[in-house]
Amino acid sequence: MRNKSLYILIVPAVIVTIFMTLLISKELVEGKLSLHKTRLKNNLSQIKTQVKALIATPTIVNNNLVSTSSATLPASSSATASPSAKLSFEQMNNLYGPCVKLSVLMYHHVQEEADAKAKKQTGLTTTPEFFLKHMQYLKDKGYSVVTPSDLAGFFNGTNKIPNKSAMITLDDGYYDNYQYAYPILKQFGFHATVFTPTGLLNNPGYLSWQDMNNMKDLVSFGNHTWSHHSSSGTKEEQEKEIGMANQQLNEHGFNSVKSFAYPYGPSSNNAEQVLKEKGYTMAFTTVHGNIMCKGKYLDLPRIRVGNAPLNNYGL
Ligand SMILES: [Zn+2]
Repeated sequence: MRNKSLYILIVPAVIVTIFMTLLISKELVEGKLSLHKTRLKNNLSQIKTQVKALIATPTIVNNNLVSTSSATLPASSSATASPSAKLSFEQMNNLYGPCVKLSVLMYHHVQEEADAKAKKQTGLTTTPEFFLKHMQYLKDKGYSVVTPSDLAGFFNGTNKIPNKSAMITLDDGYYDNYQYAYPILKQFGFHATVFTPTGLLNNPGYLSWQDMNNMKDLVSFGNHTWSHHSSSGTKEEQEKEIGMANQQLNEHGFNSVKSFAYPYGPSSNNAEQVLKEKGYTMAFTTVHGNIMCKGKYLDLPRIRVGNAPLNNYGL
């Protein structure tokens, strides 16, 4: 009897408990589900907003193409970074094209380390050993060594620049270019361009007009002003400096393709104006980069090279 009444009490209690549990679980599950639903809705609308924003944003800037590592040598302190240094090839091509990728190597002295140390010129020196290694690298890696004439042809649409190309330039017209660089160029048959401040020629340590004649089978000579004058200053100054060098290069038969390099690095409006008037086809700065654009033909970047393997300079 006692057991029977216990069952009467327990069974309904168990049934009620089970029913209540089921009811609570159902509500909980439904509650959670609706919470998930709300979150999903929110996430979806966030994603939609982000996608819309992405579609409305112009192409993402890629900094890697132009501002690659300047390797062991720092960029010239006088060089100013142009805003274009942060644009990708495609962006440069849209703004200033047609453009072409071309590594224009910039050297100054090519001489032995001991001589450079004695003359305190180590910062501007590449040793003959490294210059030789660089030329060997260009050859081994299948680079085409192009000339200012080739680049001028690209700018006026009559010539193409091969995919893997380099140009060799040496600034300031030092005698060691003839002594050390020229025999190595000869060994490889590579063309180079020496930018000469013509008023300094024939001085100790500088090339003579005769040396230049002896090198002209492989070396062309560009304008680097008359007295290695900075591109800042009045237009009259630029006219005198660029004009004198232009005239002297003409007189010696070295100016068939008019090329220029800005002493100390940066370009200027006055200098560019004078170069335009005198029919220059290209002008190089010391700003780091390897994209040559027709729309910036008087503001071209280069790659400053020192005593390190060429692959350290992005080649
Ligand atoms: Zn210079």
